[in-house]
Amino acid sequence: MCCNENFKERNEGEKIQTTLDLNEISGMKFFDPHVHMTSRTTDDYQAMADAGIVALIEPSFWLGQPRTGADSFTDYYSTLIGWERFRSSQFGIKHYCTIGLNSREANNEKLAEQVMEILPHFMFKEGVVGIGEIGFDDQTAAEDKYYRLQLELAKEAALPVQVHTPHRDKKKGTQRSMDIAIEHGLSPYSVIIDHNNEETVKEVLDRGFWAAFTIYPFTKMGNERMVEVVKQYGSERIMINSAADWGISDPLAVPKTAYLMKQSGISMKDIELVTYGNAITAFGQSGQIDVNDFMSVKNVDQSQKFESNSILRGGQQPRVDKNSIIIS
Ligand SMILES: [Zn+2]
Repeated sequence: MCCNENFKERNEGEKIQTTLDLNEISGMKFFDPHVHMTSRTTDDYQAMADAGIVALIEPSFWLGQPRTGADSFTDYYSTLIGWERFRSSQFGIKHYCTIGLNSREANNEKLAEQVMEILPHFMFKEGVVGIGEIGFDDQTAAEDKYYRLQLELAKEAALPVQVHTPHRDKKKGTQRSMDIAIEHGLSPYSVIIDHNNEETVKEVLDRGFWAAFTIYPFTKMGNERMVEVVKQYGSERIMINSAADWGISDPLAVPKTAYLMKQSGISMKDIELVTYGNAITAFGQSGQIDVNDFMSVKNVDQSQKFESNSILRGGQQPRVDKNSIIIS
């Protein structure tokens, strides 16, 4: 290790290398169960693959601005099970998704009604591992209504549920999300409560739900805090994700946190569960996840096509050496 590398003293006597050293995590496999790849670039896919991410889940989400018609939802869901899955495969990453009406757009009731009609056409498709991300944003009556309707859909389809919890009034919103899921007869074991923090984790675990944590710069959880959560609660029913999207976020949050955990003395078994295994167990209840598929998607051929489109643009050659400073 050389003088240029950054180190930080965390707890007493605990010296952490703060730059991601891929050698230190080589051989580890990661599953990011919440990442919005439609908003990310091919460079992100490449970096994720290089860091050991072998599979991911892309939850249905809003676009940063409200959609104006139902067709936009249809096209978006089609992208998740079509083009985006193909794009991901071109970097050797197995792509799954969850289908749902997000909480923000549930507030446009006229449109929400139409979206509810569309959902059943997508939720039974191959690679759909749950209904999500659904739940509360502002905790309005409309959000409540469409959360409940979608829980019923999940129950009918026997699919796991990926629950988005609100940024504002998080504790109350999280409790309410769990209460309603139970009221609708869902098993807590089939419900993944997302965006937890120190304030919500205990109750989520005590009640038998899965506790997902988003490592998101500034607003949700930093990964030093995440290390402490795992030290306190262990790895049972806990998973981490990047929730990387079109905002300031980090698609390498899972491997980076794994490296931080490794340096902080968390066991490799616990790291494996929190960054890979638990997500597979939770979302695998859909019957849609076969870990053998992670390997088969590894045979990357970037000249493959999806409905006559490839990720290569006119005359481009598939990328070989990403470290080369020559861009030709
Ligand atoms: Zn999200």
